[in-house]
Amino acid sequence: MAPEVVAEQELGRRIAAVRARIAAACARAGRRPEEVTLVAVSKTVPPAVVAAAARLGLGDFGENRVQEAEAKVPAVAALVGRPLRWHLVGTLQANKVNRALRLFAIIHSVDSLHLAEAINRRAAAPVSVLLEVYFGDDPRRPGFRPQELAAAAERIVLLPNLRVRGLMTVAPLGWSPAATRAVFQRLRALREELGQRLPGLGPELSMGMTDDFELAIEEGATIVRIGRAIFGERPSTA
Ligand SMILES: *Cc1c(COP(=O)(O)O)cnc(C)c1O
Repeated sequence: MAPEVVAEQELGRRIAAVRARIAAACARAGRRPEEVTLVAVSKTVPPAVVAAAARLGLGDFGENRVQEAEAKVPAVAALVGRPLRWHLVGTLQANKVNRALRLFAIIHSVDSLHLAEAINRRAAAPVSVLLEVYFGDDPRRPGFRPQELAAAAERIVLLPNLRVRGLMTVAPLGWSPAATRAVFQRLRALREELGQRLPGLGPELSMGMTDDFELAIEEGATIVRIGRAIFGERPSTA
C-alpha cells in the first residue's frame, strides 16, 4: 500500500480511539458524547494531513499561531471542499486581531481586557470568544488569574461585538492527575458562580488536552482540544 494510505489508516485508528475514550469518559460521568466537541489541534501538522482528518469526519480544528493558520486554513479549504471551523487556542497579540478575525470562528484565548477591547473594536460582526483562566503559579503563563476574572468578565460581557461563550483553561504543566482534576473543578465552579451574576457568560468549558481530556470530561468539559493523541508527537521545537 502507498505510504499515504497507511498514514490515513493510522490517523483513522487514532481518531476512533480518541472518540472511544471520549465516549467512555462521558459514560462514567453520566453525560452524552454529543455534549463534548472535539477540536483537533493541528499546530505543526501539514495541510494534507489536516485534510485527511477532515475527510475522516473531523470538523473542528485548532491552531495556536495566526501566521501558521494564515497559510494552513486556505490550503486545507482547497483540499477539503467543505467549510471547517477553526479555533484559535494560542495567545493572540492585539496587533494581530484583524488577521485572526479573518481565520477563526472562535477565539479560546482572550486573556486580558485590553485584548477583548481590541477584538470588540475591530470586529465587523459579533465574535465568539472564551476567557482563558490560569490556575498555576508560573507568572509567564497566559490567562486571567482566578481572582481577577470576575472584574474583567463584568466588563467584557458588555462589549457589543463579543459573544462570551464560556471559559477555557490549560492545566499547569506537570501537575498530578488529582491536582489537574481540581483545576477543572475550579474552572467549572468559577463559570457557574459568575454565570449566575452575568447572563452574558455562556456555558462552554474548553478544558482537556491529550494528557488530561478524560479528567476534563468527567469534570464537565464541553470542548476538548486534542493534538498529539490524533496527529502524533510534534517536533520538539514546536
Ligand atoms: C497544543 C495545544 C493543545 C493540544 O495539546 P496536546 O497535548 O497535543 O493534545 C491544546 N490546547 C492548547 C492551548 C495548545 O496549545
